Formats: sequence, structure tokens, C-alpha cells
Amino acid sequence: MDKIIRTRFAPSPTGYMHIGNLRTALYSYFYAKGRGGQFILRIEDTDQNREVEGSSQLIIDTLHETGLIYDEGPDIGGPYAPYVQSQRKTGYLEYAKQLVAQGDAYYCFCDKERLESLTDENGARKYDKHCLSLSLEEVQRRLANGESYVIRQNIPDTHEANTYHDMVFGDITVDSCEMEDQILIKSDGMPTYNFANVIDDHLMNINCVMRGAEYLSSTPKYNLLYDAFKWERPVYIHLPSIMRDATHKLSKRNGAAGYGDLKAKGFLREAILNYIVLLGWSPKNDVEKMSFDEMLHAFNLEGISKSNAIFDEVKLRWLNGLYIKELPFEEFVEYATPWLDKSCCRGRFDYAYLCKLIQGRIDTLEDIIELVSFVDKFGDYDLELYTNKKQKTSPEVAKEILPKVLDFLTAQTDWSEQQLHDSVLAFVQQLGVKNGIVLWPLRVALSGLMSTPGGATELLYLFGKEESLRRIRYSIDLLNK
Ligand code: GLU
Repeated sequence: MDKIIRTRFAPSPTGYMHIGNLRTALYSYFYAKGRGGQFILRIEDTDQNREVEGSSQLIIDTLHETGLIYDEGPDIGGPYAPYVQSQRKTGYLEYAKQLVAQGDAYYCFCDKERLESLTDENGARKYDKHCLSLSLEEVQRRLANGESYVIRQNIPDTHEANTYHDMVFGDITVDSCEMEDQILIKSDGMPTYNFANVIDDHLMNINCVMRGAEYLSSTPKYNLLYDAFKWERPVYIHLPSIMRDATHKLSKRNGAAGYGDLKAKGFLREAILNYIVLLGWSPKNDVEKMSFDEMLHAFNLEGISKSNAIFDEVKLRWLNGLYIKELPFEEFVEYATPWLDKSCCRGRFDYAYLCKLIQGRIDTLEDIIELVSFVDKFGDYDLELYTNKKQKTSPEVAKEILPKVLDFLTAQTDWSEQQLHDSVLAFVQQLGVKNGIVLWPLRVALSGLMSTPGGATELLYLFGKEESLRRIRYSIDLLNK
């Protein structure tokens, strides 16, 4: 294609940003921007019954947060205003009237009762073109009477095959007789999605349409509209579905399906984007961890798969863990602070120090809550924790070592991290034993746990002198019971 590529993201504001939608946005953005093209946002809010308040703003905010900056919008509502279909309502009617004048659409006055009584030979409901035969005079009279009407597309009732090429799914064919005379303009004067998407894609010069595979079979109807207007059809790129498992689509009903849900579970923006891009597309070199820029440059149509993608939270966790580990420390502290505030450590301990202990040990920020809960798990514990063959320790060894450690620590006046580290190691040397003989029992005595983020001297510093000595005394008592 020698024209500038123009893609669009056209979500309906129905409540949240499903990751399938976000993936469409990412692919559309990458495909255009990676080739010097343009990307726009169009809010498709013509089905006002389904509209959830605040969701247009959520879509706009999510695109800004994820760096999917759209190129243009109408000249109203400030710099970030996207195109909004409800604001363009009157324009669609004019185009529908043009189709009526050409015979490619017609007014329909059938009421709900009649429509509900219609079924085709397979039991499916299909409109029977009843109003197509109304005379022009009758139509004029009923319109003048203010009767409620819709405008339907007039699809030839023949077995003519309608074929188009999809860049992912190949040639798609649907027979005319399988297509219903779909509604273009509803009784409230709003266009349907089926009509507005064609009008807007044309008026907005969209030449690459990317959207979910559920639109594959209705696209021939859109093509008939393009043809009726003598407009050039766009290139179609339909995307495979994102599934929860082999048979169920990922949906809000079965867990975290939205970008916001994943953020709330402690996944990082970068990891979510990286993971979502891989749901239905793979790069040539099979590298999985990619920055935004790398994805933008690597994205291509050849890598898009026809098969549905299964959302795998385990893999997302793994990828997220990699992103967390490589965050600059200051940034990690910023991310971790709200989670520490939600944990049992709220308002206690030195957060930056805790962060040092946990950054390498979590896959999601939510993991922080469980990981730091060890600070409050101290109580009676199994003395077998003192047995560690490799370190050559046992409850007996602990019983002998811990009182000495207690005396030594009681005498310490400088409780700074470095000092503790140096003096504990010097003390071990003085005793003439291996590090593990002291450090293993000390860590168990301080925590009562098999494993902790951080070793003995780190726990000493974290808990502070008073609490550390209290825990060691408690453990000595437990060993002597
Ligand atoms: N508004 C449609 C949806 O949210 C968009 C489909 C399209 O991209 O054409 O599913």
C-alpha cells in the first residue's frame, strides 16, 4: 500500500477496557505507527442502552496511560477529544437517505410483534423484506404521520457469493441469502454499529480496519455498503479471540479480563502491554520480553495467528516478575509503597529497606502483602526448623549458640545495617565456627520461619534492637522448654 496507513480503535463505552480491546488498540497503533501512519480513537456510543457512565473517559485515560496517543479528533472538547459517534448523529441519516434514494436501503415500519413472529426455515429470525414493497406514497404518508420507523439495508436475496480477503483469515465468503436486511438507522434516529462503522471509516479515511474475529461474517454486509456508495473498501485485519480456556472467551464474569483489573492485581503497565501483544501475535525471533519501542518496530501482520489465544496468568506473572526485578530501585519503592500501606507493615518499618528485601522475590505487586506478612507470624514454632544438614545446625546447636549471640547483641550500641553486618561476622569469626552455625539459628530465632526475605543481619536491622532481642529471648525460652 503506498497510501499513508490509517488505523482506528473504535471501542464502545460499555464499562471497562477488556484486554481484547486493548490488544486491538495496540495492534492498530503499532501497525500504523511502525509504518509512518496515523491512528485515531473513535468512541462508538450509538447503543446508548449499553453505555456505562464514565467509560469513555476510562478509554481515553487508558490510552494515555499506555502511550497509545491518537493523532486527531474533532475540533471540539479540548486537545484529547476523540471522535464520538453520538455527536455525529445527523450525518448518518443523510447517508442512509442516499441509500434509500438509490434503492439500497428502505424504510421499515414493522412493529415488535410482527418482527418477533418472523423466523426463517432454520428457526432463526430473519427479516422478510416486508416493507421493501411499500409504495413511495405510502412511505411518505406514514413518515408524515410520525410513525416510528427504522431504515434497513436492502441486501439482494440471491445465492450470490460475497467474498473478500482478510489479511489474517484469508478469503471469506458469505452467501447473500444468509445475510439479513440489517438495520442501519434505529427508531431513535441513531445509526447502528453496522452502519456507522462504514460511514465513519470512510469519512475518517481509515484504510486498515483491525477488529475482533467476531466481525468476520458481517463484513460482507459492510462491503455491500461500501460498494453502494462507490467507496473504496479498507484492508481487513481480523484478530483471533482471547480465551479463558479452550471453549470460553475471557470475560469479566470469569476473573480479571480488564486492564484495570490486572493493574489492581499488581501487574505493571509495561508487562501487561508486553503480554497482551503476544496474545495472538509472535515476533519472528520468538523473543518474548520486548519494550514498547521494540514491539512497535517488530509488529507485523505475518505474525498474527488465526488460532484463538489463551490468556495464561502464570505466564503474565512470570513476565511481570522480570519487569519488577529490573525496575530502578526508587521506582520500585514508589510502586511498592501503596501495597505496603495495604499490608500489615503499614506505618511500620523502613519501607525502603523492606523494598530492598522484596524486590527480587515477587512476581506481582500484590505478592508484597503475603511476602511481608512474615513480620507478624512470630509465635511458637517447630524447633525442627533449627535442623539444617548443610549448615550443620540443630536445636542443640541453637540452644548453645543463641545465648552467646544474645549477649553479644545486647552489648551493641550501633544498630546500623553495615555495622550489624560487620560485627556479627566478626563475632562468628571470634567463635571460630562457620557462618551458618550462627546465621541459620539466628534467622530462625528472629522469624520462627523456614524462609524469610532477607537473612539474619537484615532481619536484625529491620526489626530494630528491642524487637530483635525480644524475639531471640523468646526463642531461647522455647528451646529450653
Ligand atoms: N465498537 C465495536 C466494538 O467495540 C468496534 C468494532 C470495530 O472495531 O469495528 O466491538
